[in-house]
Amino acid sequence: MLRHVTFFSVRKYFSDIWRALLTATQGLRITIRHLLRKKVTRQYPERKNEYILPERARNRLYVNMDDCIGCDKCARACPVDCIEIETVKSVPGEDLGITTRNAKKKSLWVTRFDIDMAKCCYCSLCVWPCPTECIVMTEVFEFAEDKRENLIYHFATMDKAEANEHNANWKKWEVEANAMRARQAAERAAGVAAQQQASTPSAQPAVKPPPFAAKPAVKPPPFKARENPKE
Ligand code: SF4
Ligand code: SF4
Repeated sequence: MLRHVTFFSVRKYFSDIWRALLTATQGLRITIRHLLRKKVTRQYPERKNEYILPERARNRLYVNMDDCIGCDKCARACPVDCIEIETVKSVPGEDLGITTRNAKKKSLWVTRFDIDMAKCCYCSLCVWPCPTECIVMTEVFEFAEDKRENLIYHFATMDKAEANEHNANWKKWEVEANAMRARQAAERAAGVAAQQQASTPSAQPAVKPPPFAAKPAVKPPPFKARENPKE
């Protein structure tokens, strides 16, 4: 056995040990470098208040319903259809106020505004098209729930009864407006018909020729016998 322990095999043995140490050191170089740097790890949740979120962080959405005009642009931009909006038109005379950002006049009652945050992919595409900037990404990033339905956020501020009332108002007004439009159309049609009748050349009134007046019979003067010149 000892016959095989030569100088070369001992040298290889120690060179392998050296290579193993060198490789391990190379592998640990990054780890060793980070050991000497300032710590960047933050303790969560103990020290979460120290977090400074990036300016464009994407977290939980919020809608300021006072400024929402119900235009549906956010819902149409959403790639996963997680925004549901229902609106009712206001009737003339109802004042819904104006938006704070750009003084847009509101004309729709927003009876439903739901966002399903369980479906949301945090793309922020709903935020950019909003004309009144009332849908925003907040800094709230902790909103875990143990039930999926709790992740559907209802932002509409009116209850079911109020929504039904606005709906009924609009339907009533629409029926009245349709009836008025029909009446006006009928009146216009009648006016046009009367105008046409007045402008068509009417048949000449039958002028009765004066009754044939027979020429007065001019009676020849009574025959007067010629006087006999010989007499
Ligand atoms: S962030 Fe994207 S996925 Fe989420 S509601 Fe807005 S548009 Fe939809
Ligand atoms: S885009 Fe803005 S104003 Fe329009 S429905 Fe959405 S949140 Fe409301």
